[in-house]
Amino acid sequence: MSDTPANNQGKVSVPVTPEDPTTFAYKESFGNSGLIITNIDNLFNWSRLSSLFPMTFGIACCAIEFMSTGTAPYDMDRLGMVPRATPRQSDVMIVAGTVTFKMADRIRRLYEQMAEPRYVISMGSCSNCGGPYWQHGYHVVKGVDRIIPVDIYVPGCPPRPEALIGGIIKLHEKISSESLLKADS
Ligand code: SF4
Repeated sequence: MSDTPANNQGKVSVPVTPEDPTTFAYKESFGNSGLIITNIDNLFNWSRLSSLFPMTFGIACCAIEFMSTGTAPYDMDRLGMVPRATPRQSDVMIVAGTVTFKMADRIRRLYEQMAEPRYVISMGSCSNCGGPYWQHGYHVVKGVDRIIPVDIYVPGCPPRPEALIGGIIKLHEKISSESLLKADS
């Protein structure tokens, strides 16, 4: 039995918690009628964050943790995330590994091939700031945000899959506060 308050007309008020991506999408539902009232931004944001397609892409050891996030114990698919093999069908790039100057142009080109709105998660110390190559890594870019914009940083060397999932949930929160309609106006 639901503990959600109901009045005499069968109207059920659903508490809206902006921090919780599972509840923000609707404002009110009406009993078992299947009727939900919301606005376009909430609907778009809920559908976008529930179907983020990451690009199949990894450049060093952090990518092993990224791959682990897709295995049964962590089950990235339950977040609606299905890796895609082309940037044109991807809306989130997870930069998992060391960004060398040799790779930098390729990473930027892949990012530019992604359709908007697009997002970047920087996974691990190497991608965040150069990591163990910070001081003497002449070949390493000291942070992927020097070549593309980053939305979420996941710390660690390497971050565990739980940390990446935490970063994905942070990205959900960011998307849930966006307005595509206002961005177009
Ligand atoms: S942060 Fe650590 S684990 Fe990740 S790519 Fe760099 S050296 Fe490897």
